[in-house]
Amino acid sequence: MHVPRFWREIPNRYNLIGTKCNHCNKVFFPPRAICPNCRRVGNLEPCKLEGKGKVLSFTVVHVAPQDFKDQVPYVLAIIELKEGPKLMAQVTDCDPDEVEIGAEVEITFRRIKEDSEEGIIHYGPKAKLLRSKPSEQT
Ligand SMILES: [Zn+2]
Repeated sequence: MHVPRFWREIPNRYNLIGTKCNHCNKVFFPPRAICPNCRRVGNLEPCKLEGKGKVLSFTVVHVAPQDFKDQVPYVLAIIELKEGPKLMAQVTDCDPDEVEIGAEVEITFRRIKEDSEEGIIHYGPKAKLLRSKPSEQT
């Protein structure tokens, strides 16, 4: 299993890296060590995701945990990536009423919170709403 070594070599905190199974061709995010479909016969390798996806469902958060209090209301969405995996992320750069199911987003890595005591900055995926909507549904 050479995957763990790979994780140390790339700064995957800032990249959207999943794993792809060479056996069933499914892509997983967050990365997996074992393919849930194929188990032992599966062969996973790291796979950089493009970060393009769409909103599958979302909720507007009005009551947030302490660290996010100054951001309410904000949108928490289930994003389906182009490559197939789904993840939950906050939708940024928009008003809550701009978000709709099927809206296109781009996953970026943003500062989520800063631990003021230790100065540790936490990064995580966030979804940026893409506004360049096609004028007509094709
Ligand atoms: Zn598989």
